[in-house]
Amino acid sequence: MNRDVFITSLPDLASKLTLSEEEKDFDESDGTRLPIKIPSSFFDLIDPDDPFDPIRRQVVPTVFEHVEVEGETLDPLAEKRHAATSRLIHRYSGRAAFLATDRCFIHCRYCFRRRFTGTFQGPATKEEIEQAARYVEGHPSITELLFTGGDLFTLSDARLEAMIEAFRSRRPDLIIRLCTRAPAAEPRRITPALISMIKTFDTAPFFLMTQFNHGRELTKEALRATALFIDNGIPAMNQTVLLKRVNDDADTLERLCNALLANRIKPYYLFQGDLVSGTAHLRVSIEDGMKLEAELRRRLSGLAMPLYALDLPEGGGKIPLVSSYLEKQKDGALIFRTPYGEHRSYPAD
Ligand code: SF4
Repeated sequence: MNRDVFITSLPDLASKLTLSEEEKDFDESDGTRLPIKIPSSFFDLIDPDDPFDPIRRQVVPTVFEHVEVEGETLDPLAEKRHAATSRLIHRYSGRAAFLATDRCFIHCRYCFRRRFTGTFQGPATKEEIEQAARYVEGHPSITELLFTGGDLFTLSDARLEAMIEAFRSRRPDLIIRLCTRAPAAEPRRITPALISMIKTFDTAPFFLMTQFNHGRELTKEALRATALFIDNGIPAMNQTVLLKRVNDDADTLERLCNALLANRIKPYYLFQGDLVSGTAHLRVSIEDGMKLEAELRRRLSGLAMPLYALDLPEGGGKIPLVSSYLEKQKDGALIFRTPYGEHRSYPAD
């Protein structure tokens, strides 16, 4: 199978793009920063003549990553504090996240898990998998497990099979979410053989959790990869990260959400950017995000509408960021504002 070649350094990038001063000044020799990694097929989506191209902004680093503003940290969701084993994060009673590997097909400049992603720790060892699986077995309140990282599909089919087997042999009822950027970043990795292997574990559902941030990422290949899961009974849900000058306008998000739905991918979350070090230049203010949310609610159907959400700092959990449509209570009636600015009342009891 032909796999992508990757762009992995500033000189590589400079040979293909005219870099801005901010891009040239990114210090890649500092080992604490997320290394550059862009699959060539994803890079080809960039318009080289547009310095603010939305694909470029997701993957080409700038000197602004050197700026750490107050409140930012490398572990904004306090995952280290919630580590149940070396690779298992247990933050909510009903679900846990297993860090299958630190490797990704692509390094996204806003990655919230940059304390771990691309740190050369490699795939979970057999012992780490067993340790996590034993923990999940001993905690029946965990009904859902997220296979995440990194990207689980950087692992071979054989390794993935052993990993799924370790959990499902102990907990046949465990719902597994496959969290991946592969359909956007390395769609050729998704093969019929991979899907057939996953389908052999048929005691509980799998869900595919994709991440598409802009409509241009929905290429023919990306949609073919996603359809392979859906056609084989694995529903697809998309998590978009709200990013400044990438997708922070209603037209772009409306197009993305409608295109996702038209391709049987449910727009699930629109995430507010986490307070991860060096990402302030990509974050949108919550005030602007709420305005976008209200505008999308006017334009999109319920099915196409993602939930705008914030993962609270220090492991506080996810909360929805939705305006209240209840304005007041008067004479035994609740007065609501419609999404279009009119008013309607409903009995208070
Ligand atoms: S693919 Fe996911 S884990 Fe990897 S860098 Fe991008 S956001 Fe982070």
